[in-house]
Amino acid sequence: MNIQSNFSLQKLNSFGFLSHAEYFVSVENEHDLLNAIEFANQKKMPWQVLGSGSNVVLQDFLPGLTIHMAIFGKKLVSESATHFYIDCGAGENWHEFVKWTIEEGYPGLENLALIPGTTGAAPIQNIGAYGAEAASMIDSVEVLDTKLVLETQANTEVDLNIQQNWQVIPKEECAFAYRDSIFKRDLQAYVVTQVRFAIPKKWQANLSYAELANYFLDNKSPSAQDIFDAVVMIRSKKLPDPALLGNAGSFFHNPIVDLATYTQLKEKFTGLVSYPAPDLLGEKQFKLAAGWLIDQCGLKGYRVGDCGVYEKQALVLVNHGTAKGSEMLALANHIKQTVLEKFGVTLSQEPNNLP
Ligand SMILES: Cc1cc2nc3c(=O)[nH]c(=O)nc-3n(C[C@H](O)[C@H](O)[C@H](O)COP(=O)(O)OP(=O)(O)OC[C@H]3O[C@@H](n4cnc5c(N)ncnc54)[C@H](O)[C@@H]3O)c2cc1C
Repeated sequence: MNIQSNFSLQKLNSFGFLSHAEYFVSVENEHDLLNAIEFANQKKMPWQVLGSGSNVVLQDFLPGLTIHMAIFGKKLVSESATHFYIDCGAGENWHEFVKWTIEEGYPGLENLALIPGTTGAAPIQNIGAYGAEAASMIDSVEVLDTKLVLETQANTEVDLNIQQNWQVIPKEECAFAYRDSIFKRDLQAYVVTQVRFAIPKKWQANLSYAELANYFLDNKSPSAQDIFDAVVMIRSKKLPDPALLGNAGSFFHNPIVDLATYTQLKEKFTGLVSYPAPDLLGEKQFKLAAGWLIDQCGLKGYRVGDCGVYEKQALVLVNHGTAKGSEMLALANHIKQTVLEKFGVTLSQEPNNLP
């Protein structure tokens, strides 16, 4: 295990913030990961996990140990009459994994093409796009349970028995919801090391997202590869490439409101962009387009120093050069306040703040 100090994270976060980890280690297997957590616990220092940094706002300095997830490997492990079961290491690049599943004949994840990041981070916020969510094809998530590490450390001197610290959490216990899961609610509780996918053998095109349906108006039976290609093409046009303009994709969730709030807003703002959301306890709910709310506040293209609202999509905040995490959070607060004053709607942030 190679623990480095004062390690630059600038290339490990899609905003490109200048940030340094006090200590940094890249873990390539379960053993390294357990050692890393035990090292941090013994030194009584905080720790955090970093995948490819495409959904984080990093501060200038991350105290303690930053653990970079680099556990690789992907394979078909079994199949039933109805499903393919595929294991993928947490460090694998998500887009490459999606591409591989299609090439190998296990289509189903194509709507989620080109989402940056690692496969281990996919269950954290239940990544979703173009009418699909990762949770729909996740069977279970293998994690290091950090409570168990503390217990085994207290009970034995140095216990490197991997088995007793690991858990496989079935999908039903992951509390997957819109950009949410048990993992997202407590980032210190589990470290995801592998995800098992259950991909239905009976493939069906998912064209529930209007933009995708429009794209295939002239092609009534697109293949998974066609959908993959279309998603890649559409996404590339809409979102800035982090390699050219630092960003973390959508910076805010689309807020979900009840029927009464929706009706009031719709009366006052006739152009309100919204979609029906799943009912909550039998009550109707609506998802509002956060980008539209921000745009209506005149903030599209708004800029403070090197922090800005992307000129083509107000939901995306961008780093024009040498912005810092703290400055981006100040801009985000200004946006939240402005939207609250105009619409009475509270926006919540999607990327996680580290530390
Ligand atoms: C241009 C762009 C477009 C995007 N589009 C979408 C989109 O369409 N849909 C969508 O859902 N998201 C989107 N995102 C957000 C991002 O791609 C996803 O959230 C992705 O899953 C993050 O993966 P990562 O490896 O970069 O995670 P990181 O940013 O490194 O980490 C995110 C959080 O998860 C934690 N974490 C990471 N790995 C692990 C692990 N193995 N175990 C425990 N905790 C872990 C980290 O501590 C952190 O809190 C977009 C981002 C960008 C830059």
